[in-house]
Amino acid sequence: MDGRISLDRIAMRFGDFNAIQPTSLKIESGEFFSFLGPSGCGKTTLLNIISGFLTPSEGRVSIGGQEMTRIPVNRRPTAMIFQNLALFPLMSVYENIEFGLEVRGVDRHARRQKADELLTLVALGGSGHKPVIELSGGQKQRVAIARALAVEPRVLLLDEPLSALDLKLRQHMRTELKAIQRKTGITFIYITHDQGEALTMSDRVAVMSAGRIEQVADPMTLYRQPQSDFVASFVGENNRFPGRVVAVEESDGEGDIVTLDVGLASPLPGRALIHDGGQRLSPGDTATLYVRPEHWRLGGADATGTAVRGSVHHQHFEGAWLTLEVALDGGPVVRVQLPQNSEEAAAVPAVGEACHLSYSPGQAMVLPSAG
Ligand code: ATP
Repeated sequence: MDGRISLDRIAMRFGDFNAIQPTSLKIESGEFFSFLGPSGCGKTTLLNIISGFLTPSEGRVSIGGQEMTRIPVNRRPTAMIFQNLALFPLMSVYENIEFGLEVRGVDRHARRQKADELLTLVALGGSGHKPVIELSGGQKQRVAIARALAVEPRVLLLDEPLSALDLKLRQHMRTELKAIQRKTGITFIYITHDQGEALTMSDRVAVMSAGRIEQVADPMTLYRQPQSDFVASFVGENNRFPGRVVAVEESDGEGDIVTLDVGLASPLPGRALIHDGGQRLSPGDTATLYVRPEHWRLGGADATGTAVRGSVHHQHFEGAWLTLEVALDGGPVVRVQLPQNSEEAAAVPAVGEACHLSYSPGQAMVLPSAG
């Protein structure tokens, strides 16, 4: 089963609005691949180009090595799960799952056998005769997955399918979806604006902004080595410090340690992320330093650290984390996350009191500023 997808210089215009800038991308067969980005960045448009609901203004789409750019939806080896699921509410679970097979002329016995197999796969065995209207949100979700898989697609396209579920169920269904994808080996293409969903389920994620793919990488790489300001800010949280390079310390193999004047009492260091074809930073260049909230430590610097001073503005209790907002002296307000049961969290200064924050320069990231 070849579920490879290749987008070759795809572009989409609606009138004179460029919804998708020229984009090329290859998705492997059997990959769990997500498009992640804010509302309006073009995720649904790209998904519709893959499914055949839209024909791109330019470029080519191939699925399983076959040209599909102008092939209609019903002749593509794809199935889609929509946000609203689009189940037939008054029909039974069996009738919903078997619908696509009946349309294709599959006989009654084979249909039922397939439906039972799929119900077992989605952990709904024995529920075939129930009317869909009597099912919970999570059960409906599973029926929608079973129905989409019944027609044996090579590629399953999922358009924010979990957004209507409550938090607990959403988290549970992430694990289920991933398990179903692994068991079936089908290529899953998932679109979401929720980074948690994209990062927990995907083999690779394409981060999109304003009709462009900013970066394609596995979740860990996106988090640790964002290639642009947009990815650094959209994937996980980051405290940003735009500034100017004052010193560059030679690479130790993982990237130079670059010190930036960011307008605070002393310059701040971080590790420069150098990408293919990227320039190394030099003194005088404009660049941005990023420190993730969980990388701050409370207290002065040790031998390897760098410290800044500020005062606590707010404290939020968030279960596993204690989040602080600290106004740096002469600088911005930064977010700091401390594990709730740590010594540091136990010794947090009260709101209004002064504190020192430190971080390890190897964990902070520096990217050249755009333009
Ligand atoms: P959301 O998460 O809100 O669904 P999205 O990332 O899926 O957003 P798209 O639906 O792909 O975004 O839309 C991308 C851009 O293209 C938006 O600015 C949208 O207004 C525009 N757009 C989408 N479809 C059309 C259309 N048929 N005609 C005109 N503009 C469109």
